[in-house]
Amino acid sequence: MSQTVVALPNPRLPQRRERLQDVPIAGDKKILLAAPRGYCAGVDRAVITVEQALERHGAPVYVRKQIVHNRHVVETLTERGVVFVEETDEVPEGAILVFSAHGVSPAVRESAEERKLHTIDATCPLVTKVHQEAKRFARGDYDILLIGHDGHEEVEGTAGEAPEHVQLVSGPDAVDSVTVRDEDRVVWVSQTTLSVDETMETVRKLRERFPKLQDPPSDDICYATQNRQVAVKEMAPRCDLVIVVGSGNSSNSVRLVEVALQAGAKDARLVDYAREVDTSWFDGVTTVGVTSGASVPEVLVRGVLELLAEHGFGDVEPVQTAQESLVFSLPRELRPSRVLKVADVTS
Ligand code: SF4
Repeated sequence: MSQTVVALPNPRLPQRRERLQDVPIAGDKKILLAAPRGYCAGVDRAVITVEQALERHGAPVYVRKQIVHNRHVVETLTERGVVFVEETDEVPEGAILVFSAHGVSPAVRESAEERKLHTIDATCPLVTKVHQEAKRFARGDYDILLIGHDGHEEVEGTAGEAPEHVQLVSGPDAVDSVTVRDEDRVVWVSQTTLSVDETMETVRKLRERFPKLQDPPSDDICYATQNRQVAVKEMAPRCDLVIVVGSGNSSNSVRLVEVALQAGAKDARLVDYAREVDTSWFDGVTTVGVTSGASVPEVLVRGVLELLAEHGFGDVEPVQTAQESLVFSLPRELRPSRVLKVADVTS
């Protein structure tokens, strides 16, 4: 897997991120602050999609599942009139429904169509890429070994593209139970937010069993997941404690905790908010690493930095391992002509 550095300017990001130089400095204990961290291009796009749907069509706007896996984002959008549902049958006929960044299966799209819902697809383009791979390999009659977490929405969406061809492999320990029809036609693909190292271990074991296993045409673990893991690996050996800001259902955030521990951090914790930090974690600690998952607004990191400053951690050292500036265009359903059509129908 290669580390991805992209060069397109993203004019949206500066406005959406807090200025770290505004965080008060106090004390000489050290913070290592990972970069990149926080919002990725797919999350940024998905959140803006919902905000624009609200602005253009008014509340309520329905979203299937959490738009991104972050409590703060979901709570904030709920206050603004977004209704999060589990399935399409909870949405009134003819209403506006946004599909989350994690993607949906064709069956979900059909069900939304049957209910005459006006859908806006906020699926991250990098998830859509994996869907396209699954469809292409299914057309070639491959057995597709999808490395990912059982029950995760992204995995359900990808598997749903070709259920007869896709087999879930949840990690290295699951490799022994994999069976295929033809060892010459086997390919692996993966969820976008996995641990790079664990996925490579799974692939290594799969290849031991199936030497002709094909790789996907390009990395499925996305640039944002990889870049955040690289930054954490760099700082973890120097850290007594790593605080990862992120939600418990955020795959890439949970992976950051695991990666920090594997890379040598003495302790690593996941928190949604600064108020969840137990200050007893600071006992005997002189260096704290801070990072955040790809669905985490920077304001939440700022809260943790302020709390740390109150406890004598005032020496902030950035640990930057990549630059990111990727931006995705908004979903086509938000183009002006399409929006007018939806508004006309629902008014
Ligand atoms: Fe897209 Fe990666 Fe962000 Fe998921 S973590 S939304 S795949 S860029």
